[in-house]
Amino acid sequence: MRLSWRDLGRPRADKAHGKTVEIAGFPVAILPPATADHFLMMAEPGCCAGCVPNNPLAVIEVVADRPLKLGNGTLRLSGILHASSDADAWRYQLHAAELLPGVSRRAVLAASSLFCLPATALAQQVDGMAADIHSHAGNLTRATYGGSLLDVASPMRSGGLSVMCLAIVADSPVISSSSGRIRPNREPKPGELYEFSKRSFAKLHELARSQSMPIVRTAADLRAARASQPSVIVTSEGADWLEGRIERLDEAYQRWQLRQLQLTHYRPNELGDIQTEPSVPGGLTDFGAEVIRRCNALGIVVDVAHGPFELVKRAVATTAKPLVLSHTALRNRPSPWTRLITSDHARAIASTRGVIGIWPVAEVANVSAYADNIARMVDVVGVDHVGIGTDQLGLLGPSALPSYADLPQLAAALSSRFKPPEISKLLGGNYRRVFEICIA
Ligand SMILES: [Zn+2]
Ligand SMILES: [Zn+2]
Repeated sequence: MRLSWRDLGRPRADKAHGKTVEIAGFPVAILPPATADHFLMMAEPGCCAGCVPNNPLAVIEVVADRPLKLGNGTLRLSGILHASSDADAWRYQLHAAELLPGVSRRAVLAASSLFCLPATALAQQVDGMAADIHSHAGNLTRATYGGSLLDVASPMRSGGLSVMCLAIVADSPVISSSSGRIRPNREPKPGELYEFSKRSFAKLHELARSQSMPIVRTAADLRAARASQPSVIVTSEGADWLEGRIERLDEAYQRWQLRQLQLTHYRPNELGDIQTEPSVPGGLTDFGAEVIRRCNALGIVVDVAHGPFELVKRAVATTAKPLVLSHTALRNRPSPWTRLITSDHARAIASTRGVIGIWPVAEVANVSAYADNIARMVDVVGVDHVGIGTDQLGLLGPSALPSYADLPQLAAALSSRFKPPEISKLLGGNYRRVFEICIA
């Protein structure tokens, strides 16, 4: 059975456990030893151990019974595939590996859909202007409860990410996960989520300050943001802390430099419904519409992620500025309580000149499949309306992009489908355009 890198993490590869497979890839090493009986293989050439992605789905560990001649190009191997469930191991191993002779040009192209570029060229594809539309990186959510903040500025610099929308989670005290689904577990006490969100915003500012990351308040601040000095857009996932009081929006704009607001999260709130619970207020409420108009006037980006199509339709009719839908993917027959969206839902966002951030969710836990999902959304709404929303440290399952340092791998995966100016748009240019319009 012939495997492609896109199969990794999918049922096709897992079903091949214990069977003989063929796969082509590159040994990890800039000057590989002439022969080896134990080495790592990736879809694209990497120059050193530092190029190996954290993602256990992006690498195959090769074990041979006798040393194999590595050469300088693509290796085509056969062997017995092992899919490991050990969290510390590489997910896939190729045992009793043997070299297969001759690699056709077609086989190379199929195997390395990830364009073969040296690591420095990959980083240039990202061009230091990339933007993540939705993130909880730096361990922000847990740090609000006393956990430690983690370094995020360094992986942003090395991966080429200039700015991230760093989100507090407004309804965090009253939601919990069971059976893979996050749901509200009680009603908040009056003032509870307001006080909690103030502590979360303070922690977000502490994170930015301690890692010397400027806070983006204006379009000029965003234009100045570069991967060499990555910046933060203060974001709230859920507007539950408003508790129906519009004046708190102005307060958050001033006091916390809030510049992106997601209306609802995992709790139907005063602004509207969510995708993952039965409809309560019926889409977007009058208060939700008032919040959108006030965001437009103040210069706050409105994010309708987690909102059902009914909420989005009224948001589209209400807003005078582009909308963002920061983290999702396309699914034309969505299952109940899905966070994914249909083509019509996606087109509604694009109709505002907005942008849709694509998620690196579990079922696409390698960059090649992540790039496929981005391309699928581009097919529906066009290359000007798609971006990336990693939801880093907010996903229930594994991520195809667990570290910003892996961003060049995503750029490489996109480069087999898009031209460099299009990749720049997808990785951040589209979001930058939307932000500039919203903030004006
Ligand atoms: Zn979310
Ligand atoms: Zn999130």
